[in-house]
Amino acid sequence: MPQLRTLRHYQLTAALCLLHGQQWKDQKTNLPRYKLTNIDADFSHVVRSRMSPGWVLPVDALRLAVALCPDAVDVRLRFDCSTPHDVASSLTSLSRLLRFSAVCVTSGERTLLDFTDIVPLLEHFGSKTLITLELKVLEEVDPHLILRHCTRLEVLTLSGCGFVAPSTCPAHGCSPQSIRGPQLRLLFYADGDDFSWDHYLPQCFWRTVLFSGDRRKPNRLEGVFLESPRMTPETLDVTLRDKCLPMLRVLSVCRMPEVTMEHLMAAAPSAYLRVSKCDQIKQRHAARIKQLAKIEVKHE
Ligand SMILES: [Zn+2]
Repeated sequence: MPQLRTLRHYQLTAALCLLHGQQWKDQKTNLPRYKLTNIDADFSHVVRSRMSPGWVLPVDALRLAVALCPDAVDVRLRFDCSTPHDVASSLTSLSRLLRFSAVCVTSGERTLLDFTDIVPLLEHFGSKTLITLELKVLEEVDPHLILRHCTRLEVLTLSGCGFVAPSTCPAHGCSPQSIRGPQLRLLFYADGDDFSWDHYLPQCFWRTVLFSGDRRKPNRLEGVFLESPRMTPETLDVTLRDKCLPMLRVLSVCRMPEVTMEHLMAAAPSAYLRVSKCDQIKQRHAARIKQLAKIEVKHE
């Protein structure tokens, strides 16, 4: 009986299928119980086809992996445009889910699996155990549901995602006063497509995650990475203000024409600042920040 606790490989679920798939199909009982705390699954045809063309994981592969590894708390899922939308549904059978990652490895083509298939996981684990969420190149993402369900979230990565349009702000009653959300420690955001208007995140997302908090519960973000977040000047003015992010150590901003020197000075990361392709930040500004804040500055 394997005693391994962690085995990081995207072919992990494929290996479990090869080892136990037939036995599971025949009787579905007496399956071994692995001690693995992670499940990595690659449903994508794109990557796999280099080795065995046409073969992808069976649609219920994750269901078998969950049965074999009931202690798993860390799930990484890779898929493509032809992956059935319900491959992740069995994950709600896990007793805990701490970290979840879903990455689409194709772009441009409409996928069958989208954010609406992930929502049941957020509903099930978001308020109990989920602390890390990574979504890459997912469509129909509604940030309201992430912020509402994932109250324990500490690390959030949104990269190349398409966001539901029109925005569901009216249904959620968003206003500058109604700001509630998880207390993130790390935020990574990268826009997917410069030319696609429906990739816009609603501004309430920024007001929530960058909200300074109050004296009892200050914002605890330590690292913020932003690539083309398309924040409005109004949003920037109410978020990146003096002492808004008291624990911020690392700030990286890229392709952010709206950010000004004043915003960066207000954010005041204590350890590292990277500025890239931000129209209003000039080389002379970077030198000034470095001089004042005594931090490492990379300016491109
Ligand atoms: Zn909203």
